[in-house]
Order: sequence, then C-alpha cells, then structure tokens
Amino acid sequence: MARVYNFSAGPAVLPEEVLQEAADEMLDYRGTGMSVMEMSHRSKAYDTIIKEAEADLRELMNIPDNYKVLFLQGGASQQFAMIPMNLMKNRVADYIVTGQWAKKAYQEASLYGKANKIASSEDKTFSYIPDCSDLPISEDADYVYICENNTIYGTKFKTLPNTKGKPLVADVSSCFLSEPVDVTKYGVIYGGVQKNIGPAGVVIVIIREDLITEDVLPGTPTMLRYKIHADADSLYNTPPAYGIYICGKVFKWLKKMGGLEAMKERNEKKAKILYDYLDESKLFKGTVRKEDRSLMNVPFITGNEELDAKFVKEAKEAGFENLKGHRTVGGMRASIYNAMPIEGVEKLVEFMKKFEAENA
Ligand code: PLP
Repeated sequence: MARVYNFSAGPAVLPEEVLQEAADEMLDYRGTGMSVMEMSHRSKAYDTIIKEAEADLRELMNIPDNYKVLFLQGGASQQFAMIPMNLMKNRVADYIVTGQWAKKAYQEASLYGKANKIASSEDKTFSYIPDCSDLPISEDADYVYICENNTIYGTKFKTLPNTKGKPLVADVSSCFLSEPVDVTKYGVIYGGVQKNIGPAGVVIVIIREDLITEDVLPGTPTMLRYKIHADADSLYNTPPAYGIYICGKVFKWLKKMGGLEAMKERNEKKAKILYDYLDESKLFKGTVRKEDRSLMNVPFITGNEELDAKFVKEAKEAGFENLKGHRTVGGMRASIYNAMPIEGVEKLVEFMKKFEAENA
C-alpha cells in the first residue's frame, strides 16, 4: 500500500485510523453481520451511531442546548437556498462577499429577496478579508452571511463581523473543527463535511432554535425546511447514513487527539512551516494578505505559469497530490486540513526547497 500526501481542497485526506477502522468494520459492524451501508437507519445499531455522532460533536464544539445539530444532504450549496428560504422573513439579508462560495450564496439569496452585498474583497481577487467592524448592516436584515474560510483564495475571518445584533450565518465548510469556536456568536454554522470531517454527501447545520420556525418562504419544499429535520432528529427521511457514521468516527478521533484546542495548535504549527518558507522563498510567494491567512488552504505562486505547471507535475511524481490551484485562480494550493500530518507539510517544504534550488 502506498498512500500519497493528499493536498486536495475536498474531498480531502481523512485520518488513516478512521479509514482502517471503517475497513475493519465493513463486512460485520460490531456483530450485526452487516455493513453500516446495509443497515436500516431506523435500527438500534444505527440509532446509537447517529446519537453518538451528535453527542461527540456537541462535546467537541461545546454546542449549547438551544442549538440543534442537523445532518442533511445536498452539500453546502443546497444551504445557499435553504438559508434564505427558512430565514428571510423580511426578505432582506446582508452578505459579505469574500470569494466564489460567498458570491454563489449571495446570488442564490437574490432569488428569494433583497440580498445586499455589504462588503467585498473582489477588487483584489479576494486576497483579503474586508474590515467588518462597522458595516452598513440593513435595519431589517434577517441575517448577515459570511463564508468564514475561503477555500479557493485561502483567507479566513480572524474576527467575526460586527452584525449589530443580527444573526450571523457562517459557511465553515473548509475550517470545520479546525479550531475552537464560540457557537453562541452564530445563528447558523454549517458546512459540507468533505474537507475536514468525512465523505461528501453530508452537510452539518448547527442552528439556534429560535431560527427554526414554520414561517418559511411560500413554496419551500418540505425537504428544505429546517423544522422538518429538527423535529425528526435528522431522520425525517433516509439520511446519508454511511457518511454520518464516518463523521462520527472522525469526531472520536478528534476527541482522542485532544479536541479542538489541540487541533488548533497542531494546525498553526503545520501552517507556520509552510508560510514561513513562503515568506523566505525567492521563488514561491503566498497570495494572501498575511493577517488574513487561512490555516487550512494555502495558495501560492511562482509568478510564472509554466513553472507552476512544472512544479505541480514534479510534486505529483514525488507523491504530493492535488497541489494545483483552483481552476479560477491558477498557481498552487496546499490544503492542509486536520488529517494532514505535520510530516506531510515538512516533506512538502523540503520538496519545494529542492525545486527552488533546481529552478533558481
Ligand atoms: N462552501 C465552501 C467554503 C466550499 O469550499 C465549498 C466547496 O468546495 C462549497 C461551499 C460547496 O460545497 P458543496 O460542493 O458541498 O456544495
């Protein structure tokens, strides 16, 4: 078996122990004689799996009792619609546009009401996070929306925007469980799990109870109502059962690793190795304003497209996969999620140094 160092932005690297344990349980999950994939979502065994997953996530994130945890489908992109459909009572919402995903969410919300772009960093190719200390929040805004970590551009909100009392809705797809968060600062925290938590197909929504109501926009399909899923504890219909099972294993792995404080320390250590090298390199340059750098997604360039392509090709040959930047920005991007070991980043930097020496 030869595992590569996988720097994919998502679906992405998962902890080997989790994958191995799932493999060991594949044919006979704990004496049931079947795989979790083959199991009724109404069975006793599955009930334990989903309840434990939720309890472990609550413990990891210290989620207060007045927040619901929902395991849904449709990816993060479906939330772009579900959020306005469920939350836009006044048909007004404010969006901070810091990248493609925030922009897509903003455009989707415009289908349902007045979505205001109250700040943007598009003027500099989304390479920074705008000042959000005193934004023109709309008086009748139902919520303020951010994408907390911008996967494509490698920026992260280090301080949350001042929403002037409006509920904050945050897409945390690419920074989920990478460091501790104060859940009480948000109305909704949601993310696709395929970057830091599990296989594609599950989206986790953590939502304050008072935001879950029957008062949704007319025509909102039953399946897109938070209340339907909240009332049924994520079992209104067949959930993405196997994916939730893997998420549950990752939650247990995170607890074993020391929880989110320990992950933050580890992630800072990993990111520092790469950023320190980018800051000293004469060949490679980071593309993001320093104070806004993400711990999870690290974009960089040489400034020469041919050299970028050569680097990506040679890196692949050396066992470093998926370093090509997003198709809309080019260059390179190393996604270094929770499950990327420190040695993966150390070896990447070693390889970059060698490449720099050979191509100076
Ligand atoms: N939001 C962010 C921050 C992302 O990085 C992505 C995907 O990469 C999405 C949303 C879209 O997720 P999905 O493909 O699950 O709809």
